[in-house]
Amino acid sequence: MPETTAEVLIIGGGIAGLSLASKLAGDTGVVLLEAENELGYHTSSRSARQLIPSYGPPVVQDLTVRTLALIRELEAGLPEPILRPRSFMLVGREEDVRDRASGHMHPITMAEAAGLAPELAAGNFEAAGLDTTSVSCNTDILMDWHRSRIEAGGGRILTGRRVDAAGRSADGNWVVSAGRETFTAPVAINAAGAWADAVAELFGARRRGLQPYRRTAAIVDAGNPPAADGPMVAGALDNFYYRPDLEGVLISPSETVPSPAEDARHRPEDVADLVELVNSLTSLRLGRTLRAWTGLRTQAADGVPVVGFDDAVDGFFWLAGQGGYGFQTSSGIAEFAAAKLLGEQPVLDVSEALSPARAGL
Ligand SMILES: Cc1cc2nc3c(=O)[nH]c(=O)nc-3n(C[C@H](O)[C@H](O)[C@H](O)COP(=O)(O)OP(=O)(O)OC[C@H]3O[C@@H](n4cnc5c(N)ncnc54)[C@H](O)[C@@H]3O)c2cc1C
Repeated sequence: MPETTAEVLIIGGGIAGLSLASKLAGDTGVVLLEAENELGYHTSSRSARQLIPSYGPPVVQDLTVRTLALIRELEAGLPEPILRPRSFMLVGREEDVRDRASGHMHPITMAEAAGLAPELAAGNFEAAGLDTTSVSCNTDILMDWHRSRIEAGGGRILTGRRVDAAGRSADGNWVVSAGRETFTAPVAINAAGAWADAVAELFGARRRGLQPYRRTAAIVDAGNPPAADGPMVAGALDNFYYRPDLEGVLISPSETVPSPAEDARHRPEDVADLVELVNSLTSLRLGRTLRAWTGLRTQAADGVPVVGFDDAVDGFFWLAGQGGYGFQTSSGIAEFAAAKLLGEQPVLDVSEALSPARAGL
């Protein structure tokens, strides 16, 4: 049986596993194992590609700001930017918008909202908030940058390797199987997205109640498309969002429906209902669906990512539960996780907030 040794074994080749592997490669021997034949096949290729500093609990917002700073540093050396300005606008009832319009989001008048998004039909919304620090993210370039940095640092990325068993060698290292191959390492990282609890069980670690939730998105054409530089617009009740896209308009019903860990597929009727809703709230005149997809956003009960060493199983490190914030927190979380793994002081010390041993998990 072929055997590979590593210092750190990362399970999962989505944005979480790739970001951490790229941060570690060069300093430590990293091997990343991805079950599918391509990287990012599951949730990481299905996002809305928006990074919103005002979105999520406080620790997520801090990690988002840190991630934006880190991506800006790395994109300085690239021929094409990864981030482009795209404001985020929340619309809804007065009390629903007020609850979220603080920090990076500030209240604006409905006249200002109509100036930025003239397609909003008058009278449907009482209030609006705007986050001008929000950006769109070219996630393909970002993931490819991580991939090339892993390879440049001597790390190995192996696709088509589904981890199916784990045990210990006599010297205490992990011995991990993927089909007929085995991999040994003192540290294993659980970056398995929707499968994170299942992978934890393979290593004898307690499940953390990480629940995958469906979220659908679609690109549709529009008779009256929004301005190309218009904001992403979201309902404050989390019932829809849309933003301009190169091919048409990207829309989502913002649903949060529990799902098993699986290769999720969209339901055409969900997209049809959403088109009807957005057409009733705007003058976009949405029509044909060009593409639609569903991904799984996986999160703990408190909605905060789960990152750090397991408190009961030596050498088992969690990098999971990123929910709807996986891209916007990716570089900040990777920087934090790498510091914990290398025994260094993290720039942003979020150990307690993200701890796999925190109450409620
Ligand atoms: C519609 C939608 C819109 C979104 N919009 C945004 C957005 O605008 N901004 C944002 O920040 N986030 C957004 N998200 C969330 C973001 O996409 C996720 O948080 C992020 O992609 C999660 O990355 P991940 O690496 O944890 O998971 P994944 O990308 O799912 O990667 C986990 C990988 O682990 C692999 N794996 C599982 N089990 C095993 C095993 N046993 N052995 C080997 N490999 C294994 C899987 O094959 C998978 O490739 C959105 C999500 C959806 C669905």
